[in-house]
Amino acid sequence: RAKHDGRGAFRFFEASLDEAARKRRQMEVDLRDALQNGEFRLNFQPIFDLKADRIGGFEALLRWAHPVRGEVGPAEFIPVAEEIGLITAIGEWVMHEACRHATSWPDHVRIAVNVSPLQFRHPGFQAVILQALSRSGLAPNRLEVEITESVFLAGETPVLALLHRLREMGVRVALDDFGTGYSSLSYLRSFPFDKIKIDRSFVIGLAANDSSAAIVRAIVDLARALDMETTAEGVEDRDQLAQLRDQGCGNIQGYFFSRPVEGTGVDALLKTVFAQAA
Ligand code: C2E
Ligand code: MG
Ligand code: MG
Ligand code: MG
Repeated sequence: RAKHDGRGAFRFFEASLDEAARKRRQMEVDLRDALQNGEFRLNFQPIFDLKADRIGGFEALLRWAHPVRGEVGPAEFIPVAEEIGLITAIGEWVMHEACRHATSWPDHVRIAVNVSPLQFRHPGFQAVILQALSRSGLAPNRLEVEITESVFLAGETPVLALLHRLREMGVRVALDDFGTGYSSLSYLRSFPFDKIKIDRSFVIGLAANDSSAAIVRAIVDLARALDMETTAEGVEDRDQLAQLRDQGCGNIQGYFFSRPVEGTGVDALLKTVFAQAA
């Protein structure tokens, strides 16, 4: 390997492409078994209500304990599950599991569940929600569905119709990762979301002293005018918390309060007094 004629580099490139394709195929195969094998579980991250000064809810975050690779994050496997048509089945499991957990929590504590655009637009989605609520006995207003703006890309009208049906059932709807997607304020005019989640990237920007502070303030003001709540995502330190509080953001989620915990950790968190943090 004294000579560098470029062919070696090309072969290396080819080999790593092969390796990536092989890994990807393996993930598809493994994902197909993961549900039956019970390899999924939910973690829960508290959402702290600054006004009420207590935890107002938890977001359910999916975890995959891969038998060989160990824990694989949702950012890696959810896009694959979407591509191979598995997200509907996985999302149905998540919905049932999330509602089941939440029934054992105090009444004021909500559960927020992420829903993929594909799952949301699947014809059976409303039935899944109804079934998850009736089987668990969870009050509909304790369930908050989190969708992103990308759900609107494939056509607004059927999405809005379904959002209104969810609302009639009493289920809450949050707009996740706000400000990052194909943001269009027209969605805010078309549907009264219960909550806007301010994306973590703007919270990170608060420390950098860039335009993030102005954007956060604008989102909070807009939400207030539209009678929607706000949650800031990815709050990691006291300075961010202080700024967000100053700007009137109502809810805070992030490592500063707590990382996502297992179901068994929820009770302990609910008993914690966050006096010095809040
Ligand atoms: P998301 O809904 O925006 O969830 C927030 C993500 O930020 C979570 O990552 C959470 O662990 C992480 N996070 C929370 N606080 C902090 C912080 O202070 N610092 C940092 N660096 N990160 C923080 P996670 O659990 O890896 O999930 C990533 C994404 O995967 C979620 O983003 C959501 O879009 C998707 N996802 C997770 N669970 C599900 C699910 O059950 N169904 C669907 N369709 N998507 C899911
Ligand atoms: Mg979310
Ligand atoms: Mg988010
Ligand atoms: Mg996010």
